[in-house]
Amino acid sequence: MLERQQARTKIIATLGPACSSRTKIREMVRAGVDAFRVNLSHGEREERTRLVKIVHEVREELHRPVAVIADLRGPRLRLGRFEGPLELKRGEQFNFRVAKSTKDPQVLPVDYSKFFHDVRKGHRVLLRDGRAELEVLGIEGKNMQCVVRRGAEISSNQGINLPDSEVSTPALSKKDRDDLQWASEMGVDWVALSFVRSAKDLQTLRRALKKADLPAPVIAKIELPEAIRNLEEILGESNAVMVARGDLAVELGHETVPLMQKRIIRKAREYGVPVATATEMLESMIFSEVPTRAEVSDVANAVIDGSGMVMLSGETAIGIDPVQAVRTMNRIVSKAETELYTKKVELPAELRKSGPFASRTETATVTAAITAARQAEAKAVLAFTETGRTARLLSSFRSGIPVVGLTSAVRSFHRMALYWGVRPALLRRFRSSAQMYRNTAAVLDATSWLRSTDLVVALTGTFSESGATNTVRLFAASQLAKPKPKKPTKKLRSSDERP
Ligand code: PEP
Repeated sequence: MLERQQARTKIIATLGPACSSRTKIREMVRAGVDAFRVNLSHGEREERTRLVKIVHEVREELHRPVAVIADLRGPRLRLGRFEGPLELKRGEQFNFRVAKSTKDPQVLPVDYSKFFHDVRKGHRVLLRDGRAELEVLGIEGKNMQCVVRRGAEISSNQGINLPDSEVSTPALSKKDRDDLQWASEMGVDWVALSFVRSAKDLQTLRRALKKADLPAPVIAKIELPEAIRNLEEILGESNAVMVARGDLAVELGHETVPLMQKRIIRKAREYGVPVATATEMLESMIFSEVPTRAEVSDVANAVIDGSGMVMLSGETAIGIDPVQAVRTMNRIVSKAETELYTKKVELPAELRKSGPFASRTETATVTAAITAARQAEAKAVLAFTETGRTARLLSSFRSGIPVVGLTSAVRSFHRMALYWGVRPALLRRFRSSAQMYRNTAAVLDATSWLRSTDLVVALTGTFSESGATNTVRLFAASQLAKPKPKKPTKKLRSSDERP
């Protein structure tokens, strides 16, 4: 039995040593996890493979849609190896040098050949998540001189943030490409890219996905000032975005993050792009059984801002009780989202523009379905979808009416786990519309989602090309096995989701 109350907001949990057993992963799914994130910046491949296999087994055992997200490290700069830990004191001077390692205590190695090209005099170099701040004084030969403005203890291989510089390192490193090959072998459902700077980085990722034979949708992690400047083009090229507040705070200053969070969520929703809020949401639960009041408010406010997903990081990866963290998250989002359901049908900009992702027919059909469902007080909207696209578009209205995403594709079933308010359902393959409705009745019978007298709205498409959703029907759930369209449709599917 699932203990989860049906929250619309989706919960992502990061895998790690604290949730590395089958029992823990099963309990976390029961408590409300919709997706597991594999953070490819940490850990060993062998262990990751074991964990993803467990997630696959558990989701099959529980018949639950649970997505696996491979989170690539992306163009992250790091220190090389040096003797340490090293205490940086305010006012001290150090040299950066392009090298893998060094033994000179006055030199900090950086394993990135264009470091001196990207960084200029006066720029800030932040180490250890911004705890240490250095200012560039100048470049002389092989050395870049810096003075410590804020001191902290640092160690080898820690990340470097350059909030004033545009880093020209490629979007994907060799490690990222190797990780993509692994992700392809594991058949992950989503791929996230860290430190996205522009739409070009996502195009590079899509080409690499193709090469790795992995047809997964992409999540752009927004954590750089450059990404904020290029937000609209990034939204046009992503299947989802994440407000990655950890690095965003280092890059922009902590006080700017709440405003950026609201702005990113608002823009993402205008574009109909699913959006996640991440990092330190229930941070104190790494060590404590209960969250702080401020954390509860933070999670609730992310939902009220319009975030469709919330993410747990250290809370589940290394925390004392990952299951309790998920339960707590589920309770907070369930309560907060009751505040959300709008009476007015809001048209996302993507639909309004009828841009590259939607036809005018699709715009009209999806809007009509929501309007009809509201007017008729329908208990659910049934979206028949090949790729999950129709469910995603319906989700972006945030109507509060549950959307059942019905698909015969296992890949889309798990992919839809991330869409706000969508309950994915796996349909047996069908050859006619009558068979499709019969299979739907069988799936819904197995759940307690609908009663026979409940009114439902169904959305289908009669052609196979993109943007082909064109039919809205209303009927009682009990009639699902019966409706007989006058002429049987040729092929029933909705339009394709990128990629
Ligand atoms: C972040 O920086 O907020 C983030 C989500 O990325 P990561 O957890 O990979 O550091």
